[in-house]
Amino acid sequence: MESLLAQLDEHGPSAGARNARVPVLLPVALDQTYDYLLPAGMAVTPGMFVLVPFGPQTRIGIVWDAPVGEGGKPVPDKKLKTITGPLDVPPLPASSLRFAEWVARYTLSPLGMVVRMMMGSSAVFEPVKPRFGVRLVERAAEPPRLTPARKRALEIAADGLIRAKSALAAEAGCTNGVIDGLVAAGSLVEVAIPERRFPRPRADHAHVDFADAQAQAVRRMHAAVDGQTFSVTLLDGVTGSGKTEVYFESVARTLEKGRQALIMLPEIALTSQFMDRFTARFGCAPVEWHSALSSAERARAWRAAATGEARVVVGARSALFLPYADLGLIVVDEEHDQGFKQDDRVHYQARDMAVVRGNLGKFPVVLASATPSIESHVNARTGRYAHVALPGRYSGAELPEITAIDMRSDPPDKGRWLSPRLVGAVTDTLAKRQQTLLFLNRRGYAPLTLCRSCGHRFDCPQCTAWLVEHRFRQRLNCHHCGFSLPLPEKCPKCGEPESLVACGPGIERIAEEVTERFPDARLALLSSDLVPGLAEMREIIKSIEAGKADIIIGTQMVAKGHHFPALATVGVVDGDLGLGQADPRAAERTFQLLHQVTGRAGRALTAGQGFVQTYMPEHPVMQAIISGDREAFLAREIRQRQGTLLPPFGRLAALVISARDKELAELFARDVARHAPPAERIEILGPAEAPLAVIRGRFRWRILIKAPRELDVQAYLRAWLSSLPKPPSDLRLTVDIDPYNFL
Ligand code: ADP
Ligand code: ZN
Repeated sequence: MESLLAQLDEHGPSAGARNARVPVLLPVALDQTYDYLLPAGMAVTPGMFVLVPFGPQTRIGIVWDAPVGEGGKPVPDKKLKTITGPLDVPPLPASSLRFAEWVARYTLSPLGMVVRMMMGSSAVFEPVKPRFGVRLVERAAEPPRLTPARKRALEIAADGLIRAKSALAAEAGCTNGVIDGLVAAGSLVEVAIPERRFPRPRADHAHVDFADAQAQAVRRMHAAVDGQTFSVTLLDGVTGSGKTEVYFESVARTLEKGRQALIMLPEIALTSQFMDRFTARFGCAPVEWHSALSSAERARAWRAAATGEARVVVGARSALFLPYADLGLIVVDEEHDQGFKQDDRVHYQARDMAVVRGNLGKFPVVLASATPSIESHVNARTGRYAHVALPGRYSGAELPEITAIDMRSDPPDKGRWLSPRLVGAVTDTLAKRQQTLLFLNRRGYAPLTLCRSCGHRFDCPQCTAWLVEHRFRQRLNCHHCGFSLPLPEKCPKCGEPESLVACGPGIERIAEEVTERFPDARLALLSSDLVPGLAEMREIIKSIEAGKADIIIGTQMVAKGHHFPALATVGVVDGDLGLGQADPRAAERTFQLLHQVTGRAGRALTAGQGFVQTYMPEHPVMQAIISGDREAFLAREIRQRQGTLLPPFGRLAALVISARDKELAELFARDVARHAPPAERIEILGPAEAPLAVIRGRFRWRILIKAPRELDVQAYLRAWLSSLPKPPSDLRLTVDIDPYNFL
């Protein structure tokens, strides 16, 4: 442990004071610490959680190692409040404090909000309730009344194990009352259930043989871990090339060094399939961290990260903020995935912050992808990242042959969405008893509903958006704010009955067409709004793996990280969907998505095939997908970014201004823009009304800042924001450094 702050302070500037001053950070939207007095007899260390009086409340605070933020005039001791007391929670390690400061400075978020993300779950701060169970009392006399239920329960408990009452009751097929009766009779006794510990993954549990390219990759990755210093490696190889097997070796090496490892995955890829593979390699499951965990499970994982009990954590982006005792490796799998960018409260890109965390912690970071981001490609080309490439698939299976279906010359029948060519391919695949995946990145039945009689279109009363028909639920939903209404029977405008028509397809509509065309095929529909949670999603994925579906229809959640052995044919219903957007990464993203989706085909079989329905087969993205010529696409994309100074050749930041009052939003946005400090090499675009001009009743304006790479955009923005007049109370101004969302 580090030297006690209390002792430090007594020899420091405030020596002679009766009680030491301690800077405490509160997990709220504030960018400064407050000094508190240390009560007599209490010692604190930096990172420790304490209770402090704050206004009329008592709140959780974190002891910081030095004051943060503008203190103004020093507060005299007698005005200071005193820390209420310590909390029985492991302290945040120094590495977490430094990381929090870095993230706050980089994202221009209040330090308190970043630290709040590090606190994991409210359950962390609640006392751990001991759980009670029952155990057989040895040599107890037989209970006076030995009913069949009592007999069954005693037989099960005969092994002497401790079980929760409810578990024993369930096993014996009786009520909890029966168990209580046995406790009262003295046959069973209540005892505390010992806390479960996470099992330790073992580096040497399984041995994998690597040949050639893989072996070389493993050697380079081992060297990175052995170096015990900061490095970034881009692990680049098509789906099925063995990236996971290879980075598991880095994890194994890290375990051998006695340090913790973190594997970050896009949330939706956190499937049981991945956990099973981990278990096969390391002998037990990793510690999981994602949104499907209960508050108590989160608390347990959080503590385990802090105490070092958790050796390997597999988690979504927020796993980066766990209080690791001794983190020695981060792997970011599917590093190109957009899900690593968080767009609320603290806006951060977890892949980039993982690199920062590695730099601060002096350990290696591995970025893995079959379609790395342009940013990572450029970093690999300039030598900032090591580039480890895995050519070809491990199984030797060829990548699927991709065909574009030109929807102008090969259109679907009226009111249908699958072209005859694609229907033919599905028919052939069914005949061979293989699986087909139809991909459409659009939830619901239809993206637009209109009245044939008066032309009325259903839009959201609070957003600039059409209401999406969800036929399965019989509702019209807004995908931006959650507004929803029952599917109307007549037009609310002209009153005409049966005049409403659905325009365009969502995946429910594709499912309808598939059911009509292939009534005997077993269908699996995968969409976030049809699958309640990660657990259910894992079940569906498992059943698909087990061959229990012939046709899978899904949104982007099917594109990520799954391995469906019997999948032979992939059809992309609308290949052009992502291309129309005002987003500098539209082409890159569409390429990644189409490549990932079509890459699901034929992973184990010899011949997979992919079909992309498109109205623009000549578009460079389609050309790259069809030809499989990734390098040409990358070269072109990189050249374009370079020419227009887009990331990573230039830096972007966005300011989003919103208010309930239309005029107020516009006026303030213009005022913000007027206050931009003059700077020669910085381009200010806007203010402009956001493409999504209204969300949840808030009118939105955007300002985009474009700066050269080497310029300190944060310093520029800080100066700018501090010159602004105090915004009216309803106004919101968010800063988004390195934005990924331009709507
Ligand atoms: P990626 O992560 O690049 O998609 P994986 O690591 O999932 O690739 O590998 C694809 C398949 O090949 C998996 O089933 C994996 O177990 C298998 N595989 C890869 N490398 C090896 C190896 N050296 N020995 C045995 N199986 C391997
Ligand atoms: Zn809405």
